[in-house]
Amino acid sequence: MEEQIEKVLISEEELKKRVSQLGEEITKDYRGKDLLIIGIFKGAVPFLADLIRHIKIPLRYDFMAVSSYGSATRSSGAVRILKDLDTSVEDVHVLIVEDIVDTGLTLKYLKENLSRRHPQSLKVITLLDKPERREVDVQPDYNGFVIPNEFVVGYGLDFNEIFRNLPYIGILKPEAYEK
Ligand code: 5GP
Repeated sequence: MEEQIEKVLISEEELKKRVSQLGEEITKDYRGKDLLIIGIFKGAVPFLADLIRHIKIPLRYDFMAVSSYGSATRSSGAVRILKDLDTSVEDVHVLIVEDIVDTGLTLKYLKENLSRRHPQSLKVITLLDKPERREVDVQPDYNGFVIPNEFVVGYGLDFNEIFRNLPYIGILKPEAYEK
């Protein structure tokens, strides 16, 4: 698996440090508030698991799965819910946890969908942000790293479902796509 990685973009140490800083920020911003963290399957799972252990206030978490519109490619931008929440978000402070914001289409859909359910507040944290690729006007409230327009894998991010278990964020060798 690792022989298919061209370059490590964000190391395991850098991830650890930044995730811990983000946890501290969220602890500060949400103290005294009823916090519900919503992880987006599947990519956000490692980030969520590490992040919550740096948040030092009570919280609950739940997950949603949405359809993606083609792995590395573009398409219509239509997003669909595959798994909805088990919990109500009404009157609670919701923080969506995403792996990456790319075109922004998924996040825009999620924000619109969840805001119709009347949370007390609705914010977004993403590990990675690729602003060059944005097609709709949507910004994360917290962001781990701004990255260039490269297809990345690792730490939850996949290529054809593989590479999610890499402990760092890497860029694939072109041969890996061509197989
Ligand atoms: P959007 O384009 O809607 O902002 O991003 C949708 C989804 O595309 C992300 O949640 C992520 O699963 C996937 N995605 C976008 N950019 C990348 C990337 O560089 N690598 C991987 N593995 N997935 C990506």
